[in-house]
Amino acid sequence: MKIQDFPKHIQSHLIPEPSGELIYRCLGCKEEYGIAKLLYTCPKCGQVLLLHDSAFDRLKQIDGKTWRQIFDYRKMLNIPALKGIYLFHEFIGPVMPLESVIYLGEGHTPVVESNTRLQALAGCKFYFKNDGQNPSASFKDRGMASALSYIQYLIQQGHVSDILAICASTGDTSAAAALYASYLGENVKSAVLLPHKKVTPQQLAQPLGSGAAVFEVPGVFDDCMKIVEALSENYNVALLNSKNAWRILGQESYSYEIAQAFEYDMKDKVVVVPIGNAGNITAVISGFLKFYETGIISALPKIIGVQSEHANPVYKYYLEPDAEKRHFEPVAVRPSVAQAAMIGNPVSMPRVIHLVEEYNKKAGSQHVFVTEVTEQEIMDCQLTANRNGHVACTHGGECFAGLIGARKKGLVSSHETAVLDSTAHALKFSGFQDMYFENNFPESYEVTPDPALINTPALVSPADLKNVPEPGKPLHGESLSHFVHRISEEIAKLLDLQKV
Ligand SMILES: *Cc1c(COP(=O)(O)O)cnc(C)c1O
Ligand SMILES: [Zn+2]
Repeated sequence: MKIQDFPKHIQSHLIPEPSGELIYRCLGCKEEYGIAKLLYTCPKCGQVLLLHDSAFDRLKQIDGKTWRQIFDYRKMLNIPALKGIYLFHEFIGPVMPLESVIYLGEGHTPVVESNTRLQALAGCKFYFKNDGQNPSASFKDRGMASALSYIQYLIQQGHVSDILAICASTGDTSAAAALYASYLGENVKSAVLLPHKKVTPQQLAQPLGSGAAVFEVPGVFDDCMKIVEALSENYNVALLNSKNAWRILGQESYSYEIAQAFEYDMKDKVVVVPIGNAGNITAVISGFLKFYETGIISALPKIIGVQSEHANPVYKYYLEPDAEKRHFEPVAVRPSVAQAAMIGNPVSMPRVIHLVEEYNKKAGSQHVFVTEVTEQEIMDCQLTANRNGHVACTHGGECFAGLIGARKKGLVSSHETAVLDSTAHALKFSGFQDMYFENNFPESYEVTPDPALINTPALVSPADLKNVPEPGKPLHGESLSHFVHRISEEIAKLLDLQKV
């Protein structure tokens, strides 16, 4: 739709101009820093940073209803820079000129309602939001669109040139980083560090295909992260892990899209997300807070973070009900099918602690909960979801298991509606499905297949069939008809088909 065809009072708001005053704010000493330089941690005290808009209050001059109309009408524009996460430009990256925005098709992922069978299992109505339908097949594209748009902005401003973008990854960060960096071509090279044999073949293929330098390192993600941190302290590289606060900003789009998908009515809604490095839950909390403060939503949804028993430091932290007595301890992770969340020392923990407190205060009662599930539950729930029309990954299964657990514990009631984050596409993690179907999970995973969920292909090649076709050697005439007849007879027998 063209600008002049929109309602008059919306027209001037539809195409955003750069505005706001983004600064890095330290969560430890509260020091603030300008954004002309890439910063990851506070130069003074070493804590993680969040990006803060010091002119945020200007957004409150537009009322909630007008904002809702701006975002809903803006969806009808055909401007690529506003098609993805920057639909919410004023909240995602207000200083960003649209010329700096990189859009590769991320965001606005489907929100798919579960069928009655699954809802009966969960005990409430729920949806999957399929973030596996992003360009690199995980939610990480939201953060990378933001981080790489910012890098492009710095390049265009002449602040930097010849960037080496680097990250450690449980698989999906590197896939997204390599994809977005490759779009910037000559100006930005990318390098990714992966824990050897701890990412799936699909996830390894992705950064290789995008042309990144890929390094496999012994150990687990937490070890790779230490190396990347050492590199970013001692060399001139741009860190793309979720320490990078621009990633968090981009991932807030997930909350904004949920709000929009439910006509901005967040009453009795529950958002369920897996927790690994805790960047995603940080962003989800922060996003809802911003929409709440500007009156775009008038209730804060419940947020449930889910962890596997095998990588549960955040769950353990919140087990202590008394905030004064809580103490964060990293854990040594064990193998997990929710492999992208297999992290024992989440970088964003200080952000989570800070934001959870603020969220609960603003909501008027506890609204953020962290639960844990077993590896068995994750696999069973993923496969069950996928047998009912979803493309959920293991982490989507983790959310489903988390919802069932939260209903049992009474954290969620039957009249509430949940949105589960399927953070990646099922295909990225099909190796775990193979292990389940072939019953060969290494013992350390603690997964025993439920025979009712196992599915394996059947080779139909009757012994009496002498001639079978091969590539380049098709059958003809009598031998072809015999082949078709025998095979279809065999399949009909296996399926117990009745003759017409
Ligand atoms: C990164 C990732 C997670 C964990 O998100 P955090 O922001 O690290 O907590 C979960 N699922 C998938 C598929 C991921 O790629
Ligand atoms: Zn500081």
